[in-house]
Amino acid sequence: MSILDDARALAAQDPVCDACLGRVFADRSHGLTNEDRGRSLRIAAALDDDEPHEPVDTESCWVCEGRCAEFDEWAARCADAVSDTAFDTYQVGTRTPPLIEENEELLRETAGLDPEAGELFKSEFNREVGKRVGRRTDTTVEFGRPDVQFTLDLEADRVEVDVHSAFVYGRYRKLERDIPQTEWPCSDCDGSGYVGKQQCETCEGTGYLYQDSVEGLTAPVVRDVMDGTDAKFHGAGREDVDARMLGTGRPFVIEVMEPRRRRVDTERLEGDINAFAGGKVEVEGLRLATYEMVERVKGLDASKRYRAEVEFGDAVDDDALADALAELEGATIEQYTPHRVDHRRANLTRERSVYEADGEREDAYHATVEIHGEGGLYIKELVSGDEGRTEPSLAGLLGVDAEVTALDVVGVYGEEGDFEDEAYFLESAVDGGDGMDDESTDDAGDADAPNAAE
Ligand SMILES: [Zn+2]
Ligand SMILES: [Zn+2]
Repeated sequence: MSILDDARALAAQDPVCDACLGRVFADRSHGLTNEDRGRSLRIAAALDDDEPHEPVDTESCWVCEGRCAEFDEWAARCADAVSDTAFDTYQVGTRTPPLIEENEELLRETAGLDPEAGELFKSEFNREVGKRVGRRTDTTVEFGRPDVQFTLDLEADRVEVDVHSAFVYGRYRKLERDIPQTEWPCSDCDGSGYVGKQQCETCEGTGYLYQDSVEGLTAPVVRDVMDGTDAKFHGAGREDVDARMLGTGRPFVIEVMEPRRRRVDTERLEGDINAFAGGKVEVEGLRLATYEMVERVKGLDASKRYRAEVEFGDAVDDDALADALAELEGATIEQYTPHRVDHRRANLTRERSVYEADGEREDAYHATVEIHGEGGLYIKELVSGDEGRTEPSLAGLLGVDAEVTALDVVGVYGEEGDFEDEAYFLESAVDGGDGMDDESTDDAGDADAPNAAE
């Protein structure tokens, strides 16, 4: 059978609209809509037969029940649904009513064709509505992870909209001690602020054990600027609550849920956060990032550089300290899970490398020591020896008690490449305005990076 014979057999099941007719031949030729294909075949058959051409009103089509006349309408509904949301990429999905799926098969089978010939109704609907959404909203279709996902539920007569999260990468410094990285709900009242009907004494009714957190001092600002519903902080590991994070800072990503604005001005955002955080926390190198940056920040192995204030139990001289540190540099340290670490963690001996060890004595009993070590190295125990559970240790090598009295992390670095890989960044808005118009490449910063700490 020729293509015209097939078209005649399909069109004979009158009324079948041009789009439904042409969809059976969707894999023939390019640069045509299915409606083009259907109309052309109908005309060609009429010419071939020398019969009058009888166009079919799409609304009356029994196969799609007139849906193929609704592309513009659905596109307008999509655009309306996001009229207050700025985005760059989208994708359209369609839920086909079961009856239409059955009609599709019946149309083909009755004409003696493969029931799956051509393409699915939903493929055409996605594409035709999608093209129109793109034109109306001046955005681009994206099949990977679009900013906005539209789902057309034809039977329910509803457009569902999922606005996917936006991500901002940066590095933070924590300039004060006793600030946890993420919000720390009070365990005595499970974060409610109440024990029974009484205000919780432990947290004074706030629900939080610590009033500030790096998350609490940064994420709400990003949420507000992007006009999202919520925000979540993802850190490249974390330092102890009582350790500061200084130097080049620690990489993080703030995820904003359902943002109405994405291409924000990150320089301005940086200023906003730093003003809000009031000197307790500082951020820098902010850049718009991809979804994949969350996994990178959380998963990339990282080494850390620490600065520790150390107090000795007995007098230590310069040479002894220098010798002990030289001994530690390049050493592999065996650490049995420290006493202070969460008891729910499995006890095990881990091996971690010390890449660099430097230090300077302040007096016979005090020194400042800088250690650059592999991720997971316990620094307090590296200094104290943890009653023999860490070997070798600074205390062990010196033969005196040694204790960390203050600890800072001064650098977090990716072991295999920088955290700040260009492939994980998006363009930011330029200066000024509301940050939605022009775009430029935002050129921030150096690189370093991160991971689990202690
Ligand atoms: Zn139709
Ligand atoms: Zn409480």
